[in-house]
Amino acid sequence: MVEKTVFKKIIDGELPADVVYQDELCLAIRDINPQAPVHVLVIPRKEIPALRDATEEDRELLGHLLLVANQVAQQHKLSDYRVVINCGVEAGQTVWHLHVHVIGGRVMEWPPG
Ligand code: 5GP
Repeated sequence: MVEKTVFKKIIDGELPADVVYQDELCLAIRDINPQAPVHVLVIPRKEIPALRDATEEDRELLGHLLLVANQVAQQHKLSDYRVVINCGVEAGQTVWHLHVHVIGGRVMEWPPG
């Protein structure tokens, strides 16, 4: 059997997390290794390993994740923030369950490393 990802374990209540928002489609948790004063991960309950695995069927879900990302930013009083989805090893993805980073609370640089 394939080992569950940490995010699936969190969704299933098998690992603790600091949940800042949740609904029937997703949850938002604080990143365990924050890269800014606010660093939240918006995670769909549906197991999609990476953005490249999303299909037409996921259109509404993907839109929902972005709206929740903005909601989380507003919840943290962020007018400016960055939203990141790492897709694949070379992009820096380390957890194989799609997630949206919401990062803010400091000035950021571009391009990313
Ligand atoms: P990725 O590199 O895949 O885009 O992002 C994975 C993120 O998940 C990283 O920022 C990492 O710090 C975070 N992370 C990894 N394991 C855990 C965990 O057990 N709990 C939480 N809250 N975040 C985690």
